[in-house]
Amino acid sequence: VTAGAPCFDDVTGMREALCEARTAGASVGLVPTMGALHEGHLSLIRAARAENDVVVVSVYVNPTQFGPSEDLDRYPRDAEGDRELASGAGADLIFSPSTREMYAADHSTWVEVEGLTSRLCGRTRPGHFRGVCTVVSKLFNICRPDRAYFGEKDAQQLVVIKRMARDLDTGVKIVSCPTVREEDGLAMSSRNQRLTVEQRSQAPVLYRALKAAEEAIGAGEREAGAVIDLVRATLTQAPLGDIEYVEIVDAENLTPVATVAGRCLVAVAVRFGDVRLIDNLTFSV
Ligand code: AMP
Repeated sequence: VTAGAPCFDDVTGMREALCEARTAGASVGLVPTMGALHEGHLSLIRAARAENDVVVVSVYVNPTQFGPSEDLDRYPRDAEGDRELASGAGADLIFSPSTREMYAADHSTWVEVEGLTSRLCGRTRPGHFRGVCTVVSKLFNICRPDRAYFGEKDAQQLVVIKRMARDLDTGVKIVSCPTVREEDGLAMSSRNQRLTVEQRSQAPVLYRALKAAEEAIGAGEREAGAVIDLVRATLTQAPLGDIEYVEIVDAENLTPVATVAGRCLVAVAVRFGDVRLIDNLTFSV
């Protein structure tokens, strides 16, 4: 026996439930997730709860955003736990479709945001943002939310989704929420549970490296290359981590900067075994 918000696994049922609410004048907030919910997700749900009459949480591990050699099969799943946590944080409805329900066998329509998606994570994860943008568009069309909530932990995703929402006139307000961290600074992520004890003990190096960048920039360092060297040197202290990238980019258009000025993003991606971790901090100089 499980208690919790009603859970829909079909597009029609989800659409009808929301249609009723909308006709009654209710505003709708959507929190898209891939499940294995943690405090980061719950902070988004709470933010949605505070601003909307109806809160929908989608729980769907979207295969089209995973590359062929990525961790789709190993991605953590916990449907019952998710339902309980989402309900406790204020979800009214949960949308948890199967892939058959989301993608017709002859699905052939994709949403591609150009430029922004070829940088940072887009370089090592070709097709990733196409999958993300397509599924988020579908969720917007199914739920027709007034607002949708995304975490700053996935900074590039947030910029890309904002661009897509604007370019396609979705009318959805994209709300960003700060990164929730473990006590040792590690950004919460569903993937953290796949780290070994030893990898987990070294993973806070991402945040330490970003804090080193913060300190250097705070002390007046403006040369991006020097900050990147410092971040890399800090990351190297974790022997189990393989650096994928360290970049400093303009926070709006994600192009690399030579000089730290305006709003910049320091972003890192590090692999521990087959677990890929990302983190970032934004600076306004
Ligand atoms: P995911 O289930 O990892 O696809 O994440 C779903 C949403 O939760 C995305 O908008 C993420 O950016 C957000 N999110 C994931 N981890 C965190 C975190 N530690 N703090 C804040 N938001 C997060």
